[in-house]
Amino acid sequence: MLRFHTNLLTQMLNHPEAVLNKDYSSMELVLVEENINSFGADEDIPPIASIHNTELLEDYYLYSTFLTLRQNVAQLAEDIQKVPEDKLFTFVSQLFGEREVQREIQIYLLPIGYPLGDAYVRQVDGQPVIFVNLTALQKYGQTSGERLKNLIPILEHEIFHFYFERLNDFSTYWQQYKENFTPVKEAQWWVLNEGIGHFIGCRERIDQYLQEKYDLLKAAYHTYLKVMDRLQQNNLHPDEIKDIMLKGIANSFFDKYLAIIGMLAVYIIYQKSGIDGVRSCLEDMQFFQEMGLEQVGVLLR
Ligand SMILES: [Zn+2]
Repeated sequence: MLRFHTNLLTQMLNHPEAVLNKDYSSMELVLVEENINSFGADEDIPPIASIHNTELLEDYYLYSTFLTLRQNVAQLAEDIQKVPEDKLFTFVSQLFGEREVQREIQIYLLPIGYPLGDAYVRQVDGQPVIFVNLTALQKYGQTSGERLKNLIPILEHEIFHFYFERLNDFSTYWQQYKENFTPVKEAQWWVLNEGIGHFIGCRERIDQYLQEKYDLLKAAYHTYLKVMDRLQQNNLHPDEIKDIMLKGIANSFFDKYLAIIGMLAVYIIYQKSGIDGVRSCLEDMQFFQEMGLEQVGVLLR
């Protein structure tokens, strides 16, 4: 069901300098470069071979970090491919059903990429594909065991996005929802999509967050309310809207005001209705809003 791709990784473990050569060609590197500007960087990031400054190679692609940590990167790639698939599909198979999760998922294990893009789903030839930035993931632990343990929920989160994107492609409910896709509706769609993703990835830690990171959660909630208010006014420039969406889902953890609030909404629904509640959210935005989103303010009071 999972198909790992490691061409660029293998090549860079042997000849990391090759990617800095303009004549070097690799389909996986093209995919990295095509997506490098999708994480909300303030400036336009060029292909890696056009950058001649060591600091920028690091800032944009984590190139020096890869060179320093390449043994650990290789280890993480090896370890993740040995994890039994059941472990990665525990939650999503309950959400989408056994038959749907039979589908093959392409996962690119990458040596480099934008520092904020730990793992992400993007469309390639009309299909959702998972990218994992193994160098960015090195921050998640002191030992290889710790890093692997933290990568598993991240992959579960991305596998959820894969199936949810597929559901969006085929379900009439989501096609209709997106017909009149106002900025408010788009933001709510991200809250739901990243909310479930973050709930899956963080489900073991949310109680602890509520106790120890309450102030950060509350701050994220206030930002969320403010942002929804601004979107509601419907007079923003498209660039501003794009920026609001990006910052709400791609940022340091507690600053992701759309994703974090969605996570709490799903947490509330899961506490009350279990997996059936989460499943209802997949086909019913109103249910998600009434049972989850509107209760977040109560949870954080
Ligand atoms: Zn996500």
